[in-house]
Amino acid sequence: MTPAPRRDAAPVETEVREKIHLEILKRTGAYHANDHVLLPSGYHTTEYIEKTLVTTEPSFTEGLGAVIAKHFAQWPVDVVLSTGPGALILSHCVARAHPSRPVVVYGAKGTAGGKRRVTLPVEFQRLIRPESKVLLVEDLVSSGTTLNLLINLVEQLGGEVVGVGCLWRRTSVELDGKPVFSLVSRDFPTYSPEECPLCRKGVPLNEEFVRRRAGRKPSSVQERAGS
Ligand SMILES: [Zn+2]
Repeated sequence: MTPAPRRDAAPVETEVREKIHLEILKRTGAYHANDHVLLPSGYHTTEYIEKTLVTTEPSFTEGLGAVIAKHFAQWPVDVVLSTGPGALILSHCVARAHPSRPVVVYGAKGTAGGKRRVTLPVEFQRLIRPESKVLLVEDLVSSGTTLNLLINLVEQLGGEVVGVGCLWRRTSVELDGKPVFSLVSRDFPTYSPEECPLCRKGVPLNEEFVRRRAGRKPSSVQERAGS
C-alpha cells in the first residue's frame, strides 16, 4: 500500500525551514528583497528571484535537492522529470539523493501554434512506461504552466505523477491536486504602477531585471574577451 502523502510539518517548523532556504537563495544572489522591482508583466513588486542564479552553487543545490528527496523518500520513484536548465540541475541532485535511485529525464520547452509545450526526446520515451512513478522537479513555479504540461506528458505515456518538488512556489498555483513540496512558498504582492505604494513613496524603480531579459543577449566568448 502506498502511504498517504505526508502533510507539511508544523507551521513553526515550516516557517523556520523557509527562512533557512531563503537565506541560502540570498547567498547565491538570486533572491532580492526590500526592493522596488519592475516585472516583465509591467507590475511592480518588492521581491524578485533571478532564476538563472538559483543553481549556481553546487553544494547549496545538492543540499536543497536532498531536502526534496527526503520529503519524497517514502514513495517509490522510477523517474525524475524536469525541463529547463536550472530544474535539470536540481533534478539531478534530487534523484541522486532519493533511495529509489530513479533515472533522470528532461523535456524540451518550445512553442507550437503560439502555445507553450514540452516534448520528451524520443530516447527518453521508453523510460516512462505505464505505471511508472514519476517525480516532477522544478526550480521556480510561478504560473504552473510548465508543470501542468509535464503532468500531461507523463499521463499520456501512462505514467503516474507521485508529486512535485520545487525550490520556490507562488502559493496560488494549482497543480491538478498533485502533492507539491516546495522549500519556499511565497506569494509576494504585485501592484499595478497606479496603485503601487512604493511609487507613491517615491522609491526609485529597479528596471534592471526587465532590461536584462529584454535587451541583453547572452554574451559569446569573443564579446567577453573584447570587453
Ligand atoms: Zn511601484
